[in-house]
Amino acid sequence: LPIILHAFLYRTAAATATVPTFLLVGPSGGGKTAFTTLAERNTTTQTHTSTTPLTVSALLPFPHVPASSHYRSPGDPAFERSRRFLLLDTPGHGKLRHHATSQLTDAKSIKAIIFVIDAAAIAEESSLNDAAEYLHDILLALQKRHTMATSSKGPKEVPVLVAANKMDLFTALPEGLVKKQLEKGISEVRGRRARALKDGGAALSGRDDEVDEEREWLGEGGEGSFDFGMMAEVGTTVDVLGGNVVSGKEGGEVGKWWEWIAEHL
Ligand code: GDP
Repeated sequence: LPIILHAFLYRTAAATATVPTFLLVGPSGGGKTAFTTLAERNTTTQTHTSTTPLTVSALLPFPHVPASSHYRSPGDPAFERSRRFLLLDTPGHGKLRHHATSQLTDAKSIKAIIFVIDAAAIAEESSLNDAAEYLHDILLALQKRHTMATSSKGPKEVPVLVAANKMDLFTALPEGLVKKQLEKGISEVRGRRARALKDGGAALSGRDDEVDEEREWLGEGGEGSFDFGMMAEVGTTVDVLGGNVVSGKEGGEVGKWWEWIAEHL
């Protein structure tokens, strides 16, 4: 019996350790909860154990195939196992955001990040600024994580999906425009932060300012505009893909997001 128990515990631990975690972030109202519910629904035949109140187990739906299983046959137990992932939902409320960003610098187990936004809301300046600031901080945290990574523990390269949600609304901006607007918004955040640092630096006149400034600067140096392609240098790809989690009486359409998740599973 002890041997069986031991084997069971070992297998449980091994299974838990290999389930990849996708961190779900974004301003509140974007659709994170709705997406979590949708992803969790795929697991009806699974035992779903929540490791924390904010973590749900999810299952990649058919016909999507995890990249790691392209050479496996559907009967292979490893194939089924590879469809499993965890979604770690985080509060979008401003004051709670640092939880998400601090998790990024610490957590070794985050496989990828899904940044959910309301593609209709960001047509407004204030919502765009809010979203851009949040995304800026996420990307900066990833950049720091990459720069400061000394050991080989955990993935250094964390891809980001900007899930442009609510595409069913006629006021929603198309994917390409969501991308442009966010890049523009992030450029402005970068500029504002740099100015604030300079003003603060002038008051302190410390010599370390230049180093700190560099550390706080997202993407390549220079004053030009930011684009997501700059993140490649720190091992992060950013993809903007449209979808809608819920719409009218019909179910939503998030096929592009599943495909993206599949590519990173
Ligand atoms: P969260 O704050 O990011 O967790 O956002 P929620 O999941 O609570 O969603 C906020 C609101 O947007 C809810 O009323 C959802 O029903 C609605 N919502 C979510 N996804 C969609 C979508 O694809 N289209 C539309 N029209 N509404 C959506």
